[in-house]
Amino acid sequence: MLHLIIETETGKKLRVEVSETANVDKLVEVACDENGSAKEESVLFFKERELQCGKALSDYGITDGATIILKVATRGRMFKAPDVSKSETKKTGKNNLLYWYLDKGLNYGGKCRNKECKAHEQNVMFHRGFGKIDPSDDEHIDEIVRCPGCKKVFEVEANFFFQCQVEIVYKKSGDEGVTRLPVKRVVGDDYWKLGEEGGEKSNYTALKLVVSPLE
Ligand SMILES: [Zn+2]
Repeated sequence: MLHLIIETETGKKLRVEVSETANVDKLVEVACDENGSAKEESVLFFKERELQCGKALSDYGITDGATIILKVATRGRMFKAPDVSKSETKKTGKNNLLYWYLDKGLNYGGKCRNKECKAHEQNVMFHRGFGKIDPSDDEHIDEIVRCPGCKKVFEVEANFFFQCQVEIVYKKSGDEGVTRLPVKRVVGDDYWKLGEEGGEKSNYTALKLVVSPLE
């Protein structure tokens, strides 16, 4: 048996046992049972690598006594239409347009194309929040990402991060494998825009984000 320590984001340490031939799926199950969290919202990391379901623990060099980090991310629960009347305090110094403000975590940005809207052809923002997010696969993106001014759907052009930390795994066309960026901490009044590195819009064929509150 392998005796492992599961450490949660709050610093809680749980002791679990799995067989030496166990795979990641089994460890997720055991860890979630012990922690009381939902499997689909939980991600395990060992030495900063995300453990992928279907792989064996030995693929990651996990041996007896290892410490595994458990992160719980809620998916699809943080959606809320921004209340513009309460948005005054959430504006940042970058842009004072009424419908362009950032809130903590991931924000989807784009332009409102509705001619009737006060924000027509202006930048607008939708607050997505925290979670384990695959923007290309965000099941509600086409229905819920709406302009805070006119409540009409807008097309997401960029991902903005504000006062959070984000883990990013991406693949671009032509890449052989995925690239994992170091954990990015976005602090203070500045935001961070994904895909702007080098001044060019990046075309991701795969993009996975884990957006968490700052510790
Ligand atoms: Zn609008």
